[in-house]
Amino acid sequence: GAWLGVLGGGQLGRMFCQAAQALGYRVAVLDPDATCPAGMVADEHIRAAYDDAAGLDRLAQRCAAVTTEFENVPADSLRRLAQSRITTPSGDAVAVAQDRLAEKAYIQAAGVPVAPHAAIQSAADVDACPDALFPGILKTARLGYDGKGQVRVASRGEANEAFQALHGVPCVLEALQPLDYEISVVVARDLQGRAVSYPPSRNAHRDGILALSVADGSVPSDVAGQARSHALSLARHLDYHGVLCVEFFVLRDGRVLANEMAPRPHNSGHYTQDGCLVSQFEQQARIMAGLPLGDTESLRPAAMLNLLGDLWFDAQDRQCEPDWAGVLAVPGTRLHLYAKSQARRARKMGHVNILGADAAQLRERIARVSAVLGLPDA
Ligand code: ATP
Ligand code: MG
Ligand code: MG
Repeated sequence: GAWLGVLGGGQLGRMFCQAAQALGYRVAVLDPDATCPAGMVADEHIRAAYDDAAGLDRLAQRCAAVTTEFENVPADSLRRLAQSRITTPSGDAVAVAQDRLAEKAYIQAAGVPVAPHAAIQSAADVDACPDALFPGILKTARLGYDGKGQVRVASRGEANEAFQALHGVPCVLEALQPLDYEISVVVARDLQGRAVSYPPSRNAHRDGILALSVADGSVPSDVAGQARSHALSLARHLDYHGVLCVEFFVLRDGRVLANEMAPRPHNSGHYTQDGCLVSQFEQQARIMAGLPLGDTESLRPAAMLNLLGDLWFDAQDRQCEPDWAGVLAVPGTRLHLYAKSQARRARKMGHVNILGADAAQLRERIARVSAVLGLPDA
């Protein structure tokens, strides 16, 4: 049978493997960690660094097509694979998503609005930026995630201090936006440029980390339509191949601004595993294999509740196992655990997908699952 490959062995790689295997493919994973979540379900685990030439060549030799599961993979590794194999997304597309400045420029060039912002590469840039950017958020241009590498700044003085505290690495300063709520849209675009988008999910964060993502059809249709068409425009503008997620801010005045994108399946798209006929991971495999894109419409109101490592520790800080039987006793639930070798606080260990007949029943089930796990009601 044919093989598909993935750079990176985290939970996204694991769920990709499972979706590709369900279509009859064998999967090779490249990741240096012997106990990574994807390595243990892959048909072959190539233990090598993400930029190891011999490992990459082994992956290319084995597989008809290759993808990545994390956005900080070296773009040059994807470029090397692309010399001999179908590689989605391209190194160039991933490089754009790795740099908030390049990303914002591409988003705007695609005709999609973003928050007012300025590039901050020196203290002089802080002095020169417009007053309208305060209060704002200073974000490192590279390597930030889960709210790391960003500081809220009320004034120019605070921005100067924050820039120094971030050791003067290239940053972007964004004006703080009056958010009503946040949504994201997953797009799948194939090698011929055909594209589909999923219904948006509404995202709630706790301590900077996605906690709950709800796709219950409650996003007003004009907002949902705008976000889906913006996400598709962006994918087209990048000539993107593969699965792409775009995060949006919905402002109190109703405007929809793009925040950032992820060049891969996204945590907020996990609801598609159970809430849609074809998941974001299956779309990724289909695109790589040259198969038709699948149906994206929502079957039923669905939600994804993240399971962070904190749940694996009791009040005395002893390691424990959460009450899975209690979770699964709530109707409409499915458990997805990543089999990580070690639980750590704030580490994504798994998620629960929850379905309901309607938005009210879904809400009630989310509350019941949260209560079983001892989570604050989201
Ligand atoms: P992720 O884990 O999603 O990759 P990240 O670290 O890349 O997160 P962002 O998505 O840029 O960071 O920002 C994290 C959160 O901070 C956003 O989801 C939003 O709640 C808030 N935020 C970011 N930028 C702004 C802004 N300009 N105005 C208001 N809130 C913002
Ligand atoms: Mg991000
Ligand atoms: Mg984000």
